[in-house]
Amino acid sequence: MSGLSALLVERGASAHRTLLFELGLLLVPVGIGGGLWLFGASLAWVWPLVLLPYVLRHFYHLTRLAILIRRHHRLVPPFPRGLWGDLYRSIARYQQRGRKSRKRQIRFSRRFREAANAVPDALVILDKQLRVDWANPAAAKLMNIHWPEDDERRFTELLTNPDLEQFIEAGDYMRPLDIAPAHNRAIMLSLRITPFGERKKQRLVVGRDITKIYHLNMIRRDFVANASHELRTPLTVIAGFLEPLIEAPITPNNHRRPLSLMFNQTERMRSIIEDLLTLSRLEMHDSPEAQTVVDVPDELHLILQEAQALSNGQHQFETRIEDDLFLIGHRPELRSAFSNLIFNAVRHTPPGSRISICWRHDVEGALFAVEDDGPGIAQEHLPRLTERFYRVDCARSRDSGGTGLGLAIVKHVLNRHDARLWIASEVGKGSIFSCRFPIHLCGQSLAISNTCTPVSE
Ligand code: ADP
Repeated sequence: MSGLSALLVERGASAHRTLLFELGLLLVPVGIGGGLWLFGASLAWVWPLVLLPYVLRHFYHLTRLAILIRRHHRLVPPFPRGLWGDLYRSIARYQQRGRKSRKRQIRFSRRFREAANAVPDALVILDKQLRVDWANPAAAKLMNIHWPEDDERRFTELLTNPDLEQFIEAGDYMRPLDIAPAHNRAIMLSLRITPFGERKKQRLVVGRDITKIYHLNMIRRDFVANASHELRTPLTVIAGFLEPLIEAPITPNNHRRPLSLMFNQTERMRSIIEDLLTLSRLEMHDSPEAQTVVDVPDELHLILQEAQALSNGQHQFETRIEDDLFLIGHRPELRSAFSNLIFNAVRHTPPGSRISICWRHDVEGALFAVEDDGPGIAQEHLPRLTERFYRVDCARSRDSGGTGLGLAIVKHVLNRHDARLWIASEVGKGSIFSCRFPIHLCGQSLAISNTCTPVSE
């Protein structure tokens, strides 16, 4: 009752009119029936007779409404008076709202489709069984996937590539995959997969044509590799001639100082060339060819000896190395990454600095970290440190004997081992360079027993 009174207050005069009309409709037969009864008519047939038109009216509107709704007919005026009229009007309003929202949806999906069709990148939507649900026209050119012809066909049957199968199975879609599709080996595609939808079971595949960038990169890589290669031989010859001249007995004419300066610079150029060649080699393939179980603790102990020799007793070394934590990877590459970080700590910190080296595992995998309490690096330099030849202080870094390529090599090696480099530094306090290796690369005790309890600090 309170609901009815609230409605009457809300709808005001029109609701009152409706209610009075409905009461009137009911009171007329009741009045006629009462009159007939007073004149002696029997109630048994008077009531059904006088109420029949009233009941039939409700029955008619109920049936009509049910049929109209079932057949999705549009309710249009004129509407009957009274409560039925109100009901017809309300349903007509809902129908109108539904039509508007449907039109909006159709407009939106048409615009979305037009936009997707205009995108130069290939877009493919896959269902949870990796079957094609939808694809834009660019997918036909770049991936040989034609929609709707290839609807429900498996993605990996249409875009055949062994790396792609592995990539999808691994499920790590953080990085794109670059492939040359089988239907057109002349193009290079960069594929990005993004899971979406309910429980992220569907996937959106975006394929970008990177043929030009890829070729430019190849030209640059080959140029650097060839130039370095060509320079290596003459430099070796020059160094070979200079070395005996420096070691010759001192005479007034043998120019020992300029000769040894020339020799030092030649050696520096040779180091740069060796590092450039290392970088070119690393760029050739995405992952190292020969992966073995690497005894990282053993390698670290050897690097530590070399670092102590480089430091000449001027730094304090601290180590916390888990002796049974091995890594699956490429030994020379890992050695080069670890030694670059440790030697950097020696070269870029003043005598007396403390350098701590840590190799341990935790829930996420293995962690290698080199921490020093040296001068630190200002925040604005941190994002650029792994660029080739990027140095915080050029003159000082050159004097320290670095090539400016060390951290670029570290980054490449870590990428090839699914690992990441993290750099944290504060001016005046020191720096931490840490490498995080995923758990699937952790060898021996960790991978076998899968005991992932963090080592106590
Ligand atoms: P470099 O051969 O000059 O060491 P890297 O690529 O290894 O080249 O390092 C790039 C720059 O990062 C270095 O020139 C130096 O300025 C800075 N750097 C690297 N490690 C440290 C460190 N432990 N402390 C301070 N600066 C560092």
